[in-house]
Amino acid sequence: MSQTTRLKIFREDHNFAAAHFLPEMGKCERLHGHNYYVSVEISAAPGPDNTVIDFNSINPLIKRICDGLDHRILLARDDKRIGLIVTEREIEAVVGSKRFVFPREDCVILPLPATTVELLAAHVCGLLAGELSVMIAGLEWVEAGVKEGASQMALHRVDMGKMVK
Ligand SMILES: [Zn+2]
Repeated sequence: MSQTTRLKIFREDHNFAAAHFLPEMGKCERLHGHNYYVSVEISAAPGPDNTVIDFNSINPLIKRICDGLDHRILLARDDKRIGLIVTEREIEAVVGSKRFVFPREDCVILPLPATTVELLAAHVCGLLAGELSVMIAGLEWVEAGVKEGASQMALHRVDMGKMVK
């Protein structure tokens, strides 16, 4: 017999509003934004104190990740279709015949090949998995959901057994 305990965290304040664009994705090629909501689920064996983790310990981690993306322009560093020219004050993004120039402080350059909701979920999950793996002894997996819009979200899971350390 095996038993698992899972924690699910879906708080209204775990959200961020951000702008992005997706090359070669129809109307998503144009600069636009979303109100994203982040949910997190973790599976772990409870510790000697019969808890997995104090919710007050994990909530600030999620909030910090959201705040780092909030009211920013999200740019994909590893998208070969986007040329990013970063100067002290500005970031120029060249996509085909289009050219965007943003204040550098308003942008977040993510180590991703695209800023799709799937990869944003993977990014958030990776950050959380790294932090939670040292906080929770019996951690089995972490799943992050990023919801864009009312009816669609992407879920990404990092299994600690397969995590590259
Ligand atoms: Zn979008």
